[in-house]
Amino acid sequence: MIERPGTDTRHPDRHAPDLQRLMILLPGPANEPAPGAWWQRLHADFMPDYNRKTTAYWCAAVLLGSAILVHALLGVTAMPLASQLQIAVGAAIAMLAGLVPIRIPRSKSSLAAGDIFIFLLLLLHGPAAATLAAAAEGLVGSWRTSRRWTSRIASPAMASIAMFALGSLLQAAIAAGKANSIYGPSLLLTATMLSAVLYFVLNTLLITAVPHLKRNQWPALATLFGDFSWVGITCAGSASVSCLLFLAFEQAGLGVLIAAAPIIAMLVATLHYFFGQQEAAELARHHQMEAIGREAELSARHVLALQKSERRFHSAFTHASIGMALVEFDGRVLQVNDALRELIGETHEAGLVGQAFDDIVDAADMPRLAEGMRRLDGHGVDDFSVELRLRRRDGREVWAAVHCSHFSDSDSTAPCLILQVQDVSARRQAEVDLHYIAFHDSLTGLPNRRRFHEQLAQALERSQHTANRHFGLMFLDFDRFKLINDSLGHAVGDEFLIHMARRIQDHLRPNDVVARLGGDEFAILADDLEGERYVLMLADRLLEVLRQPFHIGGNEITTSASIGITFSGMGYATPADMLRDADTAMYKAKLGGKARYALFDAGLHFEVSHRMRLEGDLRRTLAAGALSLEYQPLYDLVSGEFTGFEALARWNHPELGSISPVTFIPVAEDAALMVPLTDFMLRSACRQLRLWQQRDPSLATLGMHVNVSGHDIAQPNFVARINAAVAGAGIAPVYLTLELTENILLTRLEAARPALVELRRQGVNLSIDDFGNGYSSLRHLSSLPVNSLKIDRAFVADLQRGGSEDAIVRAIILLGNSLGKSIIAEGIENPVQVELLRQLGCLSGQGYHLSRPLPAAGIDELLTQRLARLHAEQAPSAAGALPGPSTEARPALVH
Ligand code: C2E
Ligand code: CA
Ligand code: CA
Repeated sequence: MIERPGTDTRHPDRHAPDLQRLMILLPGPANEPAPGAWWQRLHADFMPDYNRKTTAYWCAAVLLGSAILVHALLGVTAMPLASQLQIAVGAAIAMLAGLVPIRIPRSKSSLAAGDIFIFLLLLLHGPAAATLAAAAEGLVGSWRTSRRWTSRIASPAMASIAMFALGSLLQAAIAAGKANSIYGPSLLLTATMLSAVLYFVLNTLLITAVPHLKRNQWPALATLFGDFSWVGITCAGSASVSCLLFLAFEQAGLGVLIAAAPIIAMLVATLHYFFGQQEAAELARHHQMEAIGREAELSARHVLALQKSERRFHSAFTHASIGMALVEFDGRVLQVNDALRELIGETHEAGLVGQAFDDIVDAADMPRLAEGMRRLDGHGVDDFSVELRLRRRDGREVWAAVHCSHFSDSDSTAPCLILQVQDVSARRQAEVDLHYIAFHDSLTGLPNRRRFHEQLAQALERSQHTANRHFGLMFLDFDRFKLINDSLGHAVGDEFLIHMARRIQDHLRPNDVVARLGGDEFAILADDLEGERYVLMLADRLLEVLRQPFHIGGNEITTSASIGITFSGMGYATPADMLRDADTAMYKAKLGGKARYALFDAGLHFEVSHRMRLEGDLRRTLAAGALSLEYQPLYDLVSGEFTGFEALARWNHPELGSISPVTFIPVAEDAALMVPLTDFMLRSACRQLRLWQQRDPSLATLGMHVNVSGHDIAQPNFVARINAAVAGAGIAPVYLTLELTENILLTRLEAARPALVELRRQGVNLSIDDFGNGYSSLRHLSSLPVNSLKIDRAFVADLQRGGSEDAIVRAIILLGNSLGKSIIAEGIENPVQVELLRQLGCLSGQGYHLSRPLPAAGIDELLTQRLARLHAEQAPSAAGALPGPSTEARPALVH
């Protein structure tokens, strides 16, 4: 028979064991065979890769084949012994031939010479005999080529089916031919050849059905009978040989067959040898061809590799994401890629080619490029990198990292340069941004402390190396910035700083540098080309412009700055030293009354360290509750009787002696000690007042004035603190008066207004201290929740009979009276002032002439005298309500 490849008889499934295991674990419905444990085991062992359809087909084929075989066997046993002998011999030869198939060169098929004998048996003894022989040959063939039992069983069964079917057909055809008297050698030959071919076709179909069913697909006929023609011819050939043998046998008897057998054997052997030779020759030729091919391939591969590398370069060049250019040594551009064109905004395909590369390089960066080229030319350097600014076609500039190296093409044209150009603008910009952030103040955009230090260091170095190259350094600090920040909020504080920074900048010359050192501290480096005079003039100008009011959110902020100045001529070694001294000078300006500038001199070091010492000492004194109070009585200028007191803070320093509040109150303000100081004053004064009020019913209406600072009213718990002091002492709120300075009210009125309104509602009195001094913005006066004004003692001091200052005091008194605010005069030092004030309508006052501030014991004494006087007046001998005889006990208001 013809053996066909591609059936499972030739390709036992390599994955069978895996599938088998899988099937045991997962008996899926598709693979599930008919029930029965033994059958399942059998199926799993022998046909693990058979699905239900394949299994059914296989079983049907085997059953049908077996039935046919049994039928054939029965048919043969019914034949005469001689026939049975012939059949046995024929079958044996067919089996033998099946063991040694003749491989057909250049095809995967082989020729089984046994077919000749099978067909001979068919013609001699009918389909039963041929079926047995075909089954025997099929068994041998499949046994040889396959190790699977399914194949070994199915192959003979299928051969039986095919042979029985075609054999019966041939038999019927011969019978029909004989019946119609057309039977002859030619018909027999044709019919036999035809049935041989059909036998092959049917057998092939039956066998290949198995793998196709397994895959559940039916292949195209063309692939099925790929080399059908070849096999068809051999089939037909075998059939015609059997036919001729049969005809010879019919003519000359069995002898022919016996004689023919060796001839056929020789023929087969010759064919076997011939085909073997041919195969060997083919193999040799094949090897030779291979050798030639390898050699040719090698040289072809070399050419190909070159072409490929060129193509690769070209493609890499054109499509690279990085910009590239081939440039001649003279700088002329030979070729550019898309990325570079895009980078410089060139839209023309041919743009830049033929042009000098230098044309697109920023002139400032040309020297660096030229330097790189010079090294590349004659210094054994292969490549260099440089960062340049390139001019885009739209005029913008782009930062590019350029790497330049030698390049020579494979077709060995003149060597040139290859430039790789990468856009690094984003990185450059980030660097610039970072540098800016590191060296600038984010709020005002001015250089920051670090940058200023650098600039100062450079200026110092310049001045050290150049005679007469001096400069001035200013340290500027705003006088009430903390107040603004605390009362109006940080947003306003920030606005204020931005605005003030601009004001400063607007008044500097281009060479001067201003920086924000932090908080409200600014530093100015002034090149004093015209001598120190310029620096002093600049300081004056700045003080003036910074004093101008600043409007924000309906608030008018008026403030001032203090400036400390030092000059490089003092021989500084480091920027830090110079800044320190300018800072010290600034402190001096503050101590001198703020809103001014001060020059550094060597003695200043002492002043500043002294102030530092005071700060520490004051903090400790406050913590120990060791401040003391004096009380200055306030008098009714008409009756001459005191109506209350102003509490004044006193600090008796253990080493420095008595320190004036004019000195230590600003220290407390700067050192954030005002809140504890005011609390201490409030508590002490209220408790003291309570004691005095309780001494006698006639004293129960005495009042107490306490000074509060701007830092106090900026506190959110201001009202609560006042309430706590009043309640703690057990006095009524109406006996307490808070003295607030006018400029404090002006800078933080809006923030403090709700608290002041609340205190007024509770009955606490509010008074404007030092009224008329400096910031005489009287606009707000009517809306201020205050009930008295205290005329600044400067105005009182100038009061003289007939003097011009009368007018101011008169105006203040008039204004106060018209607004319903009572007027208090302070600093009354002589009886003339008392008289004048009384005439002008001021009915209340205090001053050394009436009484100096006294410690509590001194006031106790005053009270004792007053009570004694009162008792004396109430006695029948009393001289009436007018001032008594003792000027000691009762001050003489008028001479
Ligand atoms: P002030 O509130 O205007 O207090 C009145 C100052 O004038 C007191 O100075 C007082 O001794 C002084 N004085 C009284 N009568 C006369 C006079 O006839 N002629 C002259 N030339 N001066 C007179 P003192 O006690 O040195 O206080 C100075 C300033 O210190 C006070 O001025 C006040 O602003 C501040 N101060 C004192 N104690 C406190 C306090 O407890 N809290 C706050 N925030 N400030 C205080
Ligand atoms: Ca006062
Ligand atoms: Ca005052």
